[in-house]
Amino acid sequence: MSPFVSLNRAGKLVDFFRVLLGKDVVVRIYTRPPSQQSGSLSEHAEQVINQFENLGSKVIQRKGMHQKIAIIDGKIAWEGSLNILSHKDTQEQMRRFEGENAVQEIARNLELDKVESGSSAGKLCPRCFEEGIEINLVQKQGRYGIFWGCPRFPACRYTENISRRRRN
Ligand SMILES: [Zn+2]
Repeated sequence: MSPFVSLNRAGKLVDFFRVLLGKDVVVRIYTRPPSQQSGSLSEHAEQVINQFENLGSKVIQRKGMHQKIAIIDGKIAWEGSLNILSHKDTQEQMRRFEGENAVQEIARNLELDKVESGSSAGKLCPRCFEEGIEINLVQKQGRYGIFWGCPRFPACRYTENISRRRRN
Protein backbone atom coordinates (compact mmCIF):
# COMPACT_ATOMS: atom_id res chain seq x y z
CA MET A 1 0.00 0.00 0.00
CA SER A 2 1.50 3.22 -1.13
CA PRO A 3 -0.87 6.18 -1.35
CA PHE A 4 1.41 7.90 -3.79
CA VAL A 5 3.42 6.52 -6.63
CA SER A 6 6.11 8.18 -8.70
CA LEU A 7 7.54 7.21 -12.05
CA ASN A 8 11.04 7.33 -10.68
CA ARG A 9 10.60 5.14 -7.70
CA ALA A 10 8.12 2.73 -9.22
CA GLY A 11 10.40 2.41 -12.22
CA LYS A 12 13.08 1.03 -9.96
CA LEU A 13 10.72 -1.58 -8.59
CA VAL A 14 9.15 -2.61 -11.86
CA ASP A 15 11.88 -5.13 -12.62
CA PHE A 16 11.50 -6.79 -9.23
CA PHE A 17 7.79 -7.06 -9.72
CA ARG A 18 8.26 -8.45 -13.19
CA VAL A 19 10.43 -11.24 -11.79
CA LEU A 20 7.95 -11.99 -9.02
CA LEU A 21 5.01 -12.06 -11.38
CA GLY A 22 6.99 -14.32 -13.67
CA LYS A 23 7.17 -16.76 -10.79
CA ASP A 24 3.42 -16.61 -10.33
CA VAL A 25 3.70 -14.53 -7.21
CA VAL A 26 0.57 -12.46 -6.73
CA VAL A 27 1.33 -8.78 -6.43
CA ARG A 28 -1.34 -6.40 -5.25
CA ILE A 29 -0.80 -2.69 -5.12
CA TYR A 30 -3.04 -0.33 -3.24
CA THR A 31 -2.78 3.31 -4.10
CA ARG A 32 -4.86 6.43 -4.37
CA PRO A 33 -6.71 7.10 -7.59
CA PRO A 34 -4.74 9.45 -9.85
CA SER A 35 -7.52 12.01 -9.54
CA GLN A 36 -6.52 12.47 -5.90
CA GLN A 37 -2.99 13.41 -6.77
CA SER A 38 -2.05 16.82 -7.92
CA GLY A 39 -0.54 18.17 -11.10
CA SER A 40 1.98 16.05 -12.90
CA LEU A 41 1.82 13.51 -10.10
CA SER A 42 -1.57 12.42 -11.24
CA GLU A 43 -0.28 11.77 -14.76
CA HIS A 44 2.63 9.88 -13.30
CA ALA A 45 0.30 7.86 -11.14
CA GLU A 46 -1.76 6.90 -14.16
CA GLN A 47 1.33 5.76 -16.00
CA VAL A 48 2.61 3.80 -13.05
CA ILE A 49 -0.73 2.12 -12.55
CA ASN A 50 -0.87 1.15 -16.22
CA GLN A 51 2.65 -0.14 -16.04
CA PHE A 52 1.92 -2.41 -13.11
CA GLU A 53 -1.36 -3.58 -14.53
CA ASN A 54 0.33 -4.46 -17.79
CA LEU A 55 2.80 -6.55 -15.86
CA GLY A 56 -0.10 -8.49 -14.46
CA SER A 57 -0.28 -7.15 -10.96
CA LYS A 58 -3.55 -6.05 -9.51
CA VAL A 59 -3.85 -2.37 -8.70
CA ILE A 60 -6.58 -1.42 -6.28
CA GLN A 61 -7.39 2.25 -6.04
CA ARG A 62 -8.56 3.41 -2.67
CA LYS A 63 -9.68 6.95 -2.22
CA GLY A 64 -8.09 8.85 0.61
CA MET A 65 -5.94 5.99 1.73
CA HIS A 66 -2.97 6.97 3.79
CA GLN A 67 -1.51 3.69 4.99
CA LYS A 68 1.95 2.74 3.93
CA ILE A 69 2.62 -0.88 4.31
CA ALA A 70 4.16 -3.84 2.56
CA ILE A 71 2.99 -7.34 3.32
CA ILE A 72 5.15 -10.19 2.15
CA ASP A 73 3.92 -13.78 1.93
CA GLY A 74 1.36 -13.10 4.63
CA LYS A 75 4.14 -13.40 7.18
CA ILE A 76 6.11 -10.21 7.17
CA ALA A 77 4.78 -6.69 7.24
CA TRP A 78 6.58 -3.40 6.96
CA GLU A 79 4.54 -0.51 8.17
CA GLY A 80 5.44 3.12 8.66
CA SER A 81 5.56 6.49 7.02
CA LEU A 82 7.35 5.64 3.81
CA ASN A 83 5.56 5.82 0.48
CA ILE A 84 7.02 2.65 -0.91
CA LEU A 85 6.32 3.53 -4.51
CA SER A 86 7.24 7.18 -4.47
CA HIS A 87 9.89 7.97 -1.92
CA LYS A 88 13.12 9.64 -2.78
CA ASP A 89 15.78 10.44 -0.21
CA THR A 90 13.26 11.09 2.50
CA GLN A 91 13.76 10.45 6.16
CA GLU A 92 11.03 8.01 6.91
CA GLN A 93 10.78 4.94 8.97
CA MET A 94 9.24 1.54 8.62
CA ARG A 95 8.79 -1.06 11.29
CA ARG A 96 8.96 -4.74 10.62
CA PHE A 97 6.37 -7.10 11.98
CA GLU A 98 6.80 -10.79 11.77
CA GLY A 99 4.54 -13.77 12.28
CA GLU A 100 1.37 -14.85 10.57
CA ASN A 101 -0.90 -13.77 13.40
CA ALA A 102 0.47 -10.26 13.62
CA VAL A 103 0.46 -9.86 9.87
CA GLN A 104 -3.04 -11.24 9.51
CA GLU A 105 -4.23 -8.78 12.07
CA ILE A 106 -2.67 -5.92 10.17
CA ALA A 107 -4.26 -7.17 6.96
CA ARG A 108 -7.59 -7.47 8.68
CA ASN A 109 -7.41 -3.97 9.99
CA LEU A 110 -6.69 -2.75 6.50
CA GLU A 111 -9.45 -4.95 5.11
CA LEU A 112 -7.01 -6.53 2.75
CA ASP A 113 -7.97 -10.07 3.60
CA LYS A 114 -11.60 -9.50 2.93
CA VAL A 115 -11.05 -8.09 -0.48
CA GLU A 116 -9.19 -11.24 -1.35
CA SER A 117 -11.40 -13.82 0.25
CA GLY A 118 -14.95 -14.60 -0.68
CA SER A 119 -16.06 -14.59 -4.24
CA SER A 120 -16.35 -11.09 -5.46
CA ALA A 121 -17.89 -10.05 -8.71
CA GLY A 122 -16.29 -6.67 -8.55
CA LYS A 123 -19.42 -5.03 -7.23
CA LEU A 124 -18.48 -1.93 -5.33
CA CYS A 125 -20.26 -1.20 -2.08
CA PRO A 126 -22.33 1.86 -3.01
CA ARG A 127 -22.52 3.15 0.54
CA CYS A 128 -18.79 3.04 1.07
CA PHE A 129 -18.24 4.50 -2.36
CA GLU A 130 -20.14 7.59 -1.26
CA GLU A 131 -17.65 7.94 1.57
CA GLY A 132 -14.80 7.67 -0.88
CA ILE A 133 -13.95 4.08 -0.10
CA GLU A 134 -13.80 1.69 -3.00
CA ILE A 135 -14.38 -1.77 -1.71
CA ASN A 136 -15.96 -4.76 -3.35
CA LEU A 137 -18.93 -6.53 -1.87
CA VAL A 138 -18.31 -10.12 -0.90
CA GLN A 139 -20.60 -13.11 -0.67
CA LYS A 140 -21.59 -13.89 2.85
CA GLN A 141 -23.46 -16.70 4.44
CA GLY A 142 -26.34 -15.61 6.59
CA ARG A 143 -29.16 -17.28 8.41
CA TYR A 144 -31.30 -17.14 5.29
CA GLY A 145 -28.72 -18.02 2.70
CA ILE A 146 -25.97 -16.19 0.91
CA PHE A 147 -26.05 -12.51 0.13
CA TRP A 148 -23.77 -9.70 -0.93
CA GLY A 149 -22.35 -7.90 2.05
CA CYS A 150 -19.89 -5.14 2.70
CA PRO A 151 -16.55 -6.37 4.03
CA ARG A 152 -16.45 -3.34 6.29
CA PHE A 153 -19.26 -4.74 8.39
CA PRO A 154 -20.10 -3.73 11.09
CA ALA A 155 -18.90 -0.24 10.15
CA CYS A 156 -21.00 -0.56 7.01
CA ARG A 157 -24.09 -2.72 7.00
CA TYR A 158 -24.89 -2.55 3.33
CA THR A 159 -26.28 -5.78 1.91
CA GLU A 160 -27.79 -6.84 -1.37
CA ASN A 161 -29.65 -9.94 -2.46
CA ILE A 162 -27.89 -12.30 -4.75
CA SER A 163 -29.96 -13.05 -7.78
CA ARG A 164 -31.00 -16.58 -7.12
CA ARG A 165 -29.76 -19.36 -9.22
CA ARG A 166 -30.98 -22.38 -7.35
CA ARG A 167 -29.09 -25.59 -7.35
CA ASN A 168 -31.66 -28.35 -7.22
ZN1 LIG B 1 -19.85 -0.70 2.59
